[in-house]
Amino acid sequence: MIPKDVEKLIQKYPLVANLVQLKETAWFNPNITSLTDGLSYVTLSEQDVKDASNRLARFAPYLCKAFPETAVTKGIIESEVVAIPNMRAALESRYQHKITGSLFLKKDSHLPISGSIKARGGVYEVLTHAEKLAIENGLLTEKDDYTKLFSDRFTQFFSRYSIAVGSTGNLGLSIGIISAKLGFKVNVHMSSDAREWKKQKLRSHGVNVIEYQQDYSVAVEKGRKAAESDPNCFFIDDENSKTLFLGYAVAGERLKKQFTEMNIKVDKQHPLFVYLPCGVGGGPGGVAFGLKLAFGDDVHCIFAEPTHSPCMFLGVYTGLHDHISVQDIGIDNITAADGLAVGRPSGFVGRAMERLIDGYYTINDQEMYDLLGLLNQQQHIQLEPSALAGMLGLLHVEKNSTYLERIKVSPEILTNATHLVWATGGGMVPEEEMGKYLSLAKI
Ligand SMILES: *Cc1c(COP(=O)(O)O)cnc(C)c1O
Repeated sequence: MIPKDVEKLIQKYPLVANLVQLKETAWFNPNITSLTDGLSYVTLSEQDVKDASNRLARFAPYLCKAFPETAVTKGIIESEVVAIPNMRAALESRYQHKITGSLFLKKDSHLPISGSIKARGGVYEVLTHAEKLAIENGLLTEKDDYTKLFSDRFTQFFSRYSIAVGSTGNLGLSIGIISAKLGFKVNVHMSSDAREWKKQKLRSHGVNVIEYQQDYSVAVEKGRKAAESDPNCFFIDDENSKTLFLGYAVAGERLKKQFTEMNIKVDKQHPLFVYLPCGVGGGPGGVAFGLKLAFGDDVHCIFAEPTHSPCMFLGVYTGLHDHISVQDIGIDNITAADGLAVGRPSGFVGRAMERLIDGYYTINDQEMYDLLGLLNQQQHIQLEPSALAGMLGLLHVEKNSTYLERIKVSPEILTNATHLVWATGGGMVPEEEMGKYLSLAKI
């Protein structure tokens, strides 16, 4: 797109000017609907999420054996929810704002297998594919004990097939580790953002890592092309996959159960606000879908993106979805938040979910580093930069009276609100790397 077109776009969509200037910006979509009205656009149902949940339950005994670290949760890949009161106080003083609701962190950063939110969708899609192959070849039925997959017989069987994926790092890590464990040959096409340690970790698992000097879109495209020429190769399409999306969506019912156990109420008088870092959109979109199914209109999902990669914000706000990239408006898509370094949003997620996502905002890289340092200092929890993007969300919500009035959350109701920051990664960052991140925090 040439600058003249950008100017035209700004006339119609004024906030694009802020995005172009890399200013931290928030937009709360006035066109959201109730769950009932929004659901039909998703093209997936509650039953689809149930099926995903049941599939993960079938695989739980296998995961328990193949990844002993999942034994504590009986092979269910799930993370803790923790209160972060010290961080809450630190945010109040940093931003000079009296926070009214309570603040919790969802630690997907510490999920087993790959230490990021990708341990939901990525692992789920590989398991789905493995199950399909095994059933089609008469080696497995859904009634079997799936621990039988943890055997030479099965790894030999799966070694006849391969899996390919394009990634900025964490999806590759997740898919690489689970695929290699099952026995698949795996090709992970990594964008320039991918951290060296992630590539090394994958290679140590026997994964073939192919590196590119370009960004995520190119890595995905090359992966797609390479897979096309091989009928035994399955390409995991992060930009469009409904299977990945469903793997993420299972988080909704799980969180509901955790909240019940923790006595955290969610209803009209006790709204839940969830802040989700967004890259291509599958992770946060899938989680948001699951949350909507679990909590209905009482949950409000807000997406967070780096100022240098606001692809979902741009796509939904302009209605152009995957027909526009951040590069089209002159943004470089270069950010310290490597998990979010995506220039063009998913063609599926924005269109499916736009009516059910309350808002979008951008955050700059230094802010993420500072919040990373602050969380470490206040709560001794260490995350990667991407995972801090959600930490600013409650300020955008609590300060926006127009939005709150529109969704019928009065100041009184707001005092009962729960703010949940979805921490999407960082649990496997090597100590030395974490030291570098922490040294960049100016607090
Ligand atoms: C992948 C990722 C996200 C966002 O998920 P998308 O599906 O790309 O939107 C957020 N945080 C981290 C750490 C990630 O790795």
